[in-house]
Amino acid sequence: MKHGRHGHHHADMLSVEEAFERIISAFKPLEAEEKPALDALGQTLAEDVYAGLDIPPAANSAMDGYAVRHQDLEGASPESPVVLRVIETVAAGQLPSRRVEPGTAIRIMTGAPTPEGCDSVTPFEDTDEVERKARGLSMDEVGVLVQPSPGAHVRPAGEDVRRGDKVLAKGTVLRPAEVGVLASLGLDRAPVARRPTVAILATGSELTAPGRAIRPGMIYDSNSYSLAASVRRYGGLPLMLGIARDTLEEMHAKLGQALGADLIITSAGVSKGDYDMVKDVLARRGRVDFWSVRMRPAKPLAWGMLRGEGGRQTPHLGLPGNPVSAMVAFEEFARPAILRMLGRTRLAKPTIEAELEGPIVNFDGRRVFARVRVTRRGGVYYANPTGPQGSNILTSMARANGLAVCPEDVPRMDKGQVARVKMLDWNQEEGV
Ligand code: AMP
Ligand code: MG
Repeated sequence: MKHGRHGHHHADMLSVEEAFERIISAFKPLEAEEKPALDALGQTLAEDVYAGLDIPPAANSAMDGYAVRHQDLEGASPESPVVLRVIETVAAGQLPSRRVEPGTAIRIMTGAPTPEGCDSVTPFEDTDEVERKARGLSMDEVGVLVQPSPGAHVRPAGEDVRRGDKVLAKGTVLRPAEVGVLASLGLDRAPVARRPTVAILATGSELTAPGRAIRPGMIYDSNSYSLAASVRRYGGLPLMLGIARDTLEEMHAKLGQALGADLIITSAGVSKGDYDMVKDVLARRGRVDFWSVRMRPAKPLAWGMLRGEGGRQTPHLGLPGNPVSAMVAFEEFARPAILRMLGRTRLAKPTIEAELEGPIVNFDGRRVFARVRVTRRGGVYYANPTGPQGSNILTSMARANGLAVCPEDVPRMDKGQVARVKMLDWNQEEGV
């Protein structure tokens, strides 16, 4: 394929969208598992959740005060308090044993069920209770200094949730608030879409596992780690298979260990130099296509289905070997697949518009994902390219918090132009 400066020829390249559609269509939410509610944080509900009870289960007091009848308190004011007889005290967790009759009040704490006969609660601060105590007066009576409106400071039964209500819908992501809502319904377990297991295999005879001594000519395998960390970050369970050297036997053996996973991610061996060997291995295991995707970094990509025991098919995504390419391709294609398996429906990364602080050069008509550091100053987002953009420069990824997108048909974006930025993370310290 020839790339002229003008008239790019991309007939045999897939657009990012085409590649995305072909990959994502192979995934659906995984089956439900029941988990302790706390452990299900970040997972999505596999079923609607209905309330088995009212919340609150009974009308109760929203204040520490006195349960009263508002009719008794007409005209009450600090100058002419209305004195009521105090017939009982109810703490949270207790039930009132008496009802509020005309001329009486029941002392009540926040959360305690309101007694029959009352229609409102007068907070302590609207009574003379403190003053009485101080003056050593009888606490069998209380002076009320204001007339409450009917219903004041009474939380009706079912105010939050009514028994039978659908409280949380299938597909809801469990955040701390949802975990709390489940608990409020008395549920300490939740049915959620299972987390996907994602097998990760680094390929390349030059690779050494971190933690080991290294020989000349070798490099450390960073992809296994950055990819496993990405899997975990987005909610999957990484299964690190280690390194397969560039031999048919090793690739074959290691891929065999991956076939129980929900997704197999390999890195390297998909660019031209390695095509044939990997193709052979994969052809024996299933059907895999080798693509050129119209993006930079991460043009070469393999995608297919590997056959396991009992004819089970396992999706296989072959990422490029260069460390930045592997991570960017993961963000574009593996992350959405993981999210869909988790039952998520919002698959796109959060995106902002930012003013470029340096140029992005697009010399061969691909969609460029430029590593940038986004900051916010005076309410405006700025995106600063993080230095050399070679796909081997992994530290430029570590400096980045976003990927600025330069469209295929835009040969260059200059400083000052506004770019769409896919945020890799939202860093509080940077104000983004
Ligand atoms: P390849 O796709 O095999 O041509 O690899 C492209 C580049 O990525 C080469 O420079 C490899 O050494 C490098 N590479 C491949 N796999 C890894 C890995 N797991 N960690 C770090 N670099 C890698
Ligand atoms: Mg290689």
